[in-house]
Amino acid sequence: MTAAIYSLSAALAAALATRAWLLDRDAPARRAFLGLGWSVALAHLSFALSFLPGLAWLRGVWTLAGTVAPAALWHCLDVYFHRNGGPSSAGQRLVAASWTVGVVATIAHAVWWGSGLPRSSPPEVVAGTWAFGVLVACVALLVQLARHTSLPTVRTRMRWLATVIGTGTGLALLEWVVRTTQPVIDPATLPFFDRGLALHGAMPPLSALFAAFTAYMLYHALLAHRLAALRELAARMATVSAAAALLVLAHTLTLVWVALTRFPLHSSFLLFLVSAVFLSVYSSSRTRLEQVWGRVLNPPGEALAAALDDLADELPRRIDAGTLAQTVAHGLHTSGRFEHVSVWLVEPGRSTFVCSALAGPSPHIRAADPPPELPSDAVARWLEPGGVVGARLAWFEAQGAELVLPLRRSDTWLGWISLAAAAGTDGVSPDERRHLADLADRVALALGQIERFRTVAEERRLAALGAMSAGLAHEVRNPLAGLKGAAQILESEQLSGDAAEMLGIIVHESDRLDRVVSDFLVVARPGQAPTTPVHLEQVATHAASVVRAAGLPREVTVTVQAADDTPVVLGDANRLEQVLLNLVRNAVDAVGARGRVVVATGSGRALDGRLTARVVVSDDGPGMPAEVVDQLFTPFFTTKAAGTGLGLAICRSIVDAHRGQLSVRSTPGEGTAFTVALPAADQPASPRLSSAPPGSAPAPGTKREPS
Ligand code: ADP
Repeated sequence: MTAAIYSLSAALAAALATRAWLLDRDAPARRAFLGLGWSVALAHLSFALSFLPGLAWLRGVWTLAGTVAPAALWHCLDVYFHRNGGPSSAGQRLVAASWTVGVVATIAHAVWWGSGLPRSSPPEVVAGTWAFGVLVACVALLVQLARHTSLPTVRTRMRWLATVIGTGTGLALLEWVVRTTQPVIDPATLPFFDRGLALHGAMPPLSALFAAFTAYMLYHALLAHRLAALRELAARMATVSAAAALLVLAHTLTLVWVALTRFPLHSSFLLFLVSAVFLSVYSSSRTRLEQVWGRVLNPPGEALAAALDDLADELPRRIDAGTLAQTVAHGLHTSGRFEHVSVWLVEPGRSTFVCSALAGPSPHIRAADPPPELPSDAVARWLEPGGVVGARLAWFEAQGAELVLPLRRSDTWLGWISLAAAAGTDGVSPDERRHLADLADRVALALGQIERFRTVAEERRLAALGAMSAGLAHEVRNPLAGLKGAAQILESEQLSGDAAEMLGIIVHESDRLDRVVSDFLVVARPGQAPTTPVHLEQVATHAASVVRAAGLPREVTVTVQAADDTPVVLGDANRLEQVLLNLVRNAVDAVGARGRVVVATGSGRALDGRLTARVVVSDDGPGMPAEVVDQLFTPFFTTKAAGTGLGLAICRSIVDAHRGQLSVRSTPGEGTAFTVALPAADQPASPRLSSAPPGSAPAPGTKREPS
């Protein structure tokens, strides 16, 4: 049994190391693992075979490989964990020194103590002490590396690995001490099956099992580029072991029932039948078995699986993005696996991502602006379809986000879920990560449904509003025209004093009412934008000169900065000018008696990666608090005494009709910037003047135009 366990451990180590190396022969960590796997395999196999009569000389191989294996482990850990900074040369020196110690000890043992099998000879004791010293150094290396790791998950997993290696080292030491101190027995006097037991010592060969487990963990780490979640590995191994134990039981019962030696063919057939029945029963109950082991050995994994199941049921019932985000954040957080969960969704009007739901303590997170710059390479690769968003670790690290799940529909970003593992857990296993990615897909799907639901509701609302406003326009405009006509007739009379003033108010207010009705019609019935090529830099220049011509306070400047690469868009130059006029007028109103308004045109990328033309109207006015920003585009929302509150609603309606986006960024005390982003025309740019708005100046072609 002892020899069998050592042989199995040897086969496993050699097979895993060879497979990892065959998959990528150039990776230094895999080459180091190959050295480790084969030195462990040689040590264990020679130890197991040295029990056999006539193979006692293999003990020399065992001494040599057993002395080198710990140094190979040290080197492997060093290469694996320093793969970014480059491994130190200490590992290679340690391996070379271990070879020297091993060779000298083996030769000394052979020369002075012969190839008999006494208790450990002094050279073997020296080599063993060296090997155990190096194993302790491996544990120390892992502990030290764990201390310098910033990610709690990796830290926990390094500690798990250190615990497994440390426990294996302790057990091996105990086995060795027991073996070298027990009375010498001449193996020739022992029955064949007792030899292994007597020579290995009184301790069961647990260290060999730990060595195999370490090899498995390192193999997993090499293939998955991350350390394994120990709980999941333990649950998996327990499932496999339970299955193996059941199979052994079935075979033993069969063998006891039918003596193998007397009817070999008959017994073999029976064994085959029993195995086949066992495997078919096992494969159907495997999931159940895994669940049971999962519940026993991996309760956190079960909690997460239950939370994901609940969420899968809940998501389709949510009809609003905010509550959907809350449900997800709350569900994941209450699974106990994540200390902090935040769900970030793109704001439809602002093209920035905001934290729509937060569970767990992270008071500093409120808004992501500008859109995310992403973390570690792995996460960035996930989140970066076509390189739309650059990779930067800092932003997510600042949130303590260890795992980021992108929410995407085809190429469009809808947001992401960021997760930080709860303290003391060992992070998320690859299986769990797959399940979480499924959840993210479901959330993206649900967001799509919510969006469609909202669009349909909005279309219905606008249709009703359009019909109503047509009636309203008719009902209001006719009497209004009558009122205004009557007032104008009266104006020709020579009225004086209060009467003339009242008449002026009637005419002025009738004009205003007429304007409100017309504006309202634009919001309610945006119509289709004509698709002629428009040069936004010309539109911007013209809008700025119209505002300047209307008169500016002395210390207010309106500047245009037109980039040469501003793409041409398809649309209606007059209506786009109306948008810019509204934005520039609002900015001028905002800065008051003194300030700077800049209208900058250029190019950009939409969230789906397509090229856009952009106009940013920014001012250094007082900015707006979040409550005002939230209502900006609601018709009739105004903070001005004489405002209609329709300007921005009109702007959005026109920009929407051009399939563009109107977004805003405002910081109280610093200023506001409105961005109009319109899809660039696919066709080559047409001559500039063809799309110049009426009365516009010739194409500037310059970077900056002074006010
Ligand atoms: P109105 O200009 O008639 O009030 P708008 O829809 O154009 O209607 O603007 C709505 C409100 O948005 C304004 O009343 C103002 O409070 C705010 N606002 C718009 N632009 C700015 C800006 N650049 N700076 C500060 N506040 C602004």
